[in-house]
Amino acid sequence: MPEKRCVTINPPKMCQPIGAIYAYIGVHACIPLVHGSQGCATYPRYNFCRHFREPIEVATTSLSEDAAVYGGAKNLVAAIRNVKNRMHPELIGIMTTCLSETIGDDVRSIIKEFDNDADEVELIAASTPSYVGTHLTGYDNAVKALVETLACNNGILNNKLNIITGLINPGDINEIKHMLQIIGVESIILTDISQTMNTPIQFPKPHFSEGGTAKAEIADTANSLGTISLAPVTGGAAAKFLERKFSVPAVLGPAPIGVNNTDTFVKNVLRLTDRPIPKELERERGLLLDAMVDVHHYLYGKRAAIFGDPDIVAAIVRFAAEAGMRPVVACTATAGPSFAKEIKAVAEEYDCPVEILEKSDLFALHEVLKEAGAEVLIGNSKGKDIAEDHNIPLVRVGFPVYDRVGCFRYPIMGYNGSIHLLDMVTNAILDHKYDPDKLHQ
Ligand code: SF4
Repeated sequence: MPEKRCVTINPPKMCQPIGAIYAYIGVHACIPLVHGSQGCATYPRYNFCRHFREPIEVATTSLSEDAAVYGGAKNLVAAIRNVKNRMHPELIGIMTTCLSETIGDDVRSIIKEFDNDADEVELIAASTPSYVGTHLTGYDNAVKALVETLACNNGILNNKLNIITGLINPGDINEIKHMLQIIGVESIILTDISQTMNTPIQFPKPHFSEGGTAKAEIADTANSLGTISLAPVTGGAAAKFLERKFSVPAVLGPAPIGVNNTDTFVKNVLRLTDRPIPKELERERGLLLDAMVDVHHYLYGKRAAIFGDPDIVAAIVRFAAEAGMRPVVACTATAGPSFAKEIKAVAEEYDCPVEILEKSDLFALHEVLKEAGAEVLIGNSKGKDIAEDHNIPLVRVGFPVYDRVGCFRYPIMGYNGSIHLLDMVTNAILDHKYDPDKLHQ
């Protein structure tokens, strides 16, 4: 769609530090440190708290006018010392912001001052200026910084598989772990927020929650059988780095949502680990097919609009087509190398034209929907007003979901997650406009 505006209105994307924090909070005993003004840490914290309903520790170097003129090195050094002394983390995940990148702070040089410190706190530095890229770029840069700094080849194959998750929910990570466990594969999850962002209540609250990827595990990624990044846009850089430097084979995507994509994920796991397909997984696949048959008469021909992160949108578009729906619009704010190609492939395969809005925003989606029409919208909470305006249900997936509780707990990935997504979409349609005459036609 040709872009005639000079401004972006309501884009389904966030800034790079949010993605970098998403990566860092999945590492055990890691404190994210935002090198920028206070707002650059408050805004991500606000979004994490309302999505995960968990408190989250994010430190800031709190730059102000004088740092903008003289540089932020003094603040960064003071912040690292404060975090070390007060929190005693194993890692500090530093990320830059629009301000610190614009004034030109060389973070890697500044943190050399800590090279001779006796403690064993690892400092990771990711460059995450928000005037380029999105939260996905930030995630990609932070995971790459983690493996660049820590990965170390010890010459002994660990027989594990690296899984780079991207910005997915704890429910999805648990489902991926469940599948790998059935196949009998040990894994290193990069990075694992399944426990760090879904913790039991504890008194007194510990500095660091249980779980998360351990520093030693990140070091061990160089000795794995392979790396599967569940999304090429988010995590591809780290996977390619491990392949280039340590000859760990990399597979990028697709996101395992729906039948075809989950099959591809399973095949990739089996190929890299040389395992047979387990019966239990075949059964779970069969249950997904059965669920699709059960709801086919409700979903057949239903027009769906889908927005969010490109890899997830592309996977849901394919799954919607598999389920007999007509995905009419696919919208993302982030440019992805394979997004349009994959959507076009689905459109051709299922003979259903899909309007592609790439590097776009929800204003454009709203306008297109006035012509295209849709019976269900799938995306995060930012689509609420569009859904209300078109009088259609919004099925909430992705990040952030702040106007419903518990979304992060449940998967949409894998065979089980796909069943959950299918049920959500079907129930939303039934709930919204249940007309037995129409629905059973
Ligand atoms: S100033 Fe830049 S880095 Fe900070 S919150 Fe805004 S967009 Fe994000």
